[in-house]
Amino acid sequence: MRTPPAVLVSGAGVAGPVLAHQLVRLGFAPVVVERAPAPQAGPGGFGVDLFGPGVEVMERLGVLDRVREAATGNTRMRLVRPVGRPLDLDLGALAQEASTDRHVEVMRGDLASILYAATRDDVEYVFGDSVEGVAQTPHGLEVSFERGAPRVFDLMAGADGLHSATRRLVFGPEERYRRFLGGHVAVFGLPEPRGFDGRVVLYRSAGRTAAVFPVRGTGRARGALLFRGEQEFAGDHRDTEAQRRFLRAAFAGEGWEVPRLLDAADSAEDLYFDSISQIRMDSWTRGRVALVGDAGYAPGPAVGGGTTVAAVGAYTLAHRLGRASGDHLAAFPGYEEDIGGYVRRSREVGPRSLRTLVPGSRWEAALGFGAMWLLPRLPRTLLRAAVNADSRAARVLSSVDLPEPAPRPRPSR
Ligand SMILES: Cc1cc2nc3c(=O)[nH]c(=O)nc-3n(C[C@H](O)[C@H](O)[C@H](O)COP(=O)(O)OP(=O)(O)OC[C@H]3O[C@@H](n4cnc5c(N)ncnc54)[C@H](O)[C@@H]3O)c2cc1C
Repeated sequence: MRTPPAVLVSGAGVAGPVLAHQLVRLGFAPVVVERAPAPQAGPGGFGVDLFGPGVEVMERLGVLDRVREAATGNTRMRLVRPVGRPLDLDLGALAQEASTDRHVEVMRGDLASILYAATRDDVEYVFGDSVEGVAQTPHGLEVSFERGAPRVFDLMAGADGLHSATRRLVFGPEERYRRFLGGHVAVFGLPEPRGFDGRVVLYRSAGRTAAVFPVRGTGRARGALLFRGEQEFAGDHRDTEAQRRFLRAAFAGEGWEVPRLLDAADSAEDLYFDSISQIRMDSWTRGRVALVGDAGYAPGPAVGGGTTVAAVGAYTLAHRLGRASGDHLAAFPGYEEDIGGYVRRSREVGPRSLRTLVPGSRWEAALGFGAMWLLPRLPRTLLRAAVNADSRAARVLSSVDLPEPAPRPRPSR
């Protein structure tokens, strides 16, 4: 019997475990290396969306029931503005009018742990390490790590997110591929979520949005701060003090609960802060290395729907490799062809959602509030038309057909 091709997967977020799951099914031997010291535990992070084909990937992996059980279930929302009464909405009722029936929102931490649980028995996971060097030879890849001993692989997939080390090592510096979309996002845990009554609360003023969202089953809530601006944060991504100062400057003078949220961001140990940017590449493979998910085509954190794109990309790559029995020269062009159009279409979602989520002016904020006030009051046919007109992001993110599952082969090299 031939030895199964050894595939190194860098990153155990969403794309990495999806890819590893399918590679095992198709007869490969994946090894996943993850920089975090341990598997994700609990509903950490933020809510992410799986639309049509992303839901289908979870179904084909056999984890959809678990994903649905973990769904955030956040349907009640309160919209708050600097002056005037707040507006309460039931998004569940509005969503029923949308034509996109396949959608699940789940905390990223829950999704990552469900995918890890579904793969850990068959996949070698190495936590607390990172790829440091990749040398491509005619016969394979010699990979060195920050901590572990060097190893040889047949193939490698970079699924290590927006700031991918694989991309930097194999394709060149991040600046070459990253486009700033004109916004920033911060997400952090709240010490005491009193006063929010289990609903998502969204405060929007000119160029700034603040949100509190409950984390189901925990009694806790998380805060998010998003803001627009031409100037990108120029500090070091590890300098959390500089990030906090940047946040404070952006939200200076805002009312509602914003000062309390800024205090929470100051003391949070789990502060996530980043500029909202996209990865734009023309090609996602080089030699024996492929990029998948945010590493290759992040459409923009918090605004771009990257989770669906990542799940689809990972599933597609696995099945192209399966069909080609591990021959990357045959599989990689097919992978690029399958996802290229979808990835390019997905790039429109981030800038558009950023404009919707964070109004550019007081006028836009008032208009958005008025539109939301009007929605539940519309006659049913108009309501359906309005909701569907507004679901362009869902349509774009659903605009791809998953490849037919490759038959379980005996890959050879
Ligand atoms: C604040 C925020 C809000 C978001 N909201 C949404 C949303 O509402 N809807 C949506 O669809 N998407 C959303 N996203 C985007 C979504 O999280 C990503 O598109 C999705 O997780 C992509 O999956 P991935 O596996 O490609 O990358 P990631 O989930 O980022 O996983 C990458 C993994 O690689 C690991 N890693 C990083 N560097 C290394 C290294 N050098 N070596 C080894 N491992 C490494 C990381 O620790 C991580 O586990 C949001 C993102 C952010 C940041």
